[in-house]
Order: sequence, then C-alpha cells, then structure tokens
Amino acid sequence: MIDKNCIFCKIISGEIPSQKVYEDEKMLVFKDIEPKAKVHLLAIAKDHFKLLSDMDESRAELVKYMLLKIPAIAKENGCEKGYRLVINQGEDAGQTVFHLHIHILGGEILPW
Ligand code: AMP
Ligand code: ZN
Repeated sequence: MIDKNCIFCKIISGEIPSQKVYEDEKMLVFKDIEPKAKVHLLAIAKDHFKLLSDMDESRAELVKYMLLKIPAIAKENGCEKGYRLVINQGEDAGQTVFHLHIHILGGEILPW
C-alpha cells in the first residue's frame, strides 16, 4: 500500500529525490537528510504503515526481512565497527515521519 501524502512513499516512487544506498522489491535504504551521526541511513519497507504498533504478521515479516538485510548494508556503508538501530514510536519519541522506518546510525563511536 502507498499513501500519496507520505514523504517516504514519495521517495519510494521517485517523486522526492533521495540518496539511495540499497533497493530491492521489498525495501529501500537511503541517507537521512539531516544526519545525526557520520553514517545515518533510513531503512523503509515498500509498504506504507505508520507505526511499530501497527505491526501485524505480514508487516512483521517485512521488518524481519529488513533486519536480515541491514547488517550487510550497514557494513558496506561505513559501519564496519558497529551501528545502532532506532525505531521512533509516536510523539514522545519524536517521530516526525509516519511511515515505519529503521534508523541506522554509525561510522563513529556513538554517544548514548
Ligand atoms: P523520525 O523522527 O524517526 O520520524 O525520523 C524521520 C527522519 O526522516 C529524520 O531523521 C529526518 O531527518 C528524515 N527525513 C525527513 N525527510 C527526509 C527526506 N526527504 N530525505 C531523507 N531523510 C528525510
Ligand atoms: Zn508511506
């Protein structure tokens, strides 16, 4: 499913440009526009759902798929010595884009 008002769906369709580092039929990984670490990538599924709490069995399969792919993608993009994955859930966490995404942060020693 695609949401025509969602900026990450627009990135998937190419309507909004992005610096893609990995793409396949199920997921896309691109550089965060305001990096909070030397390496800051965003992994998204090519299926629009807003929140981690909107998870169901098929969406969980997509998240599992992404988690299986992320180690190699992170390694190839400057996170050989480790990285941090973050999913912000909702307002208190500061979620600003409501299309589930996994932040991949690394390329340096990360402050907590
Ligand atoms: P969150 O606060 O977890 O919802 O994260 C949203 C992230 O998306 C932020 O780190 C933003 O810098 C990033 N972001 C917003 N718009 C774009 C864009 N057009 N291209 C790349 N990253 C973006
Ligand atoms: Zn979307």
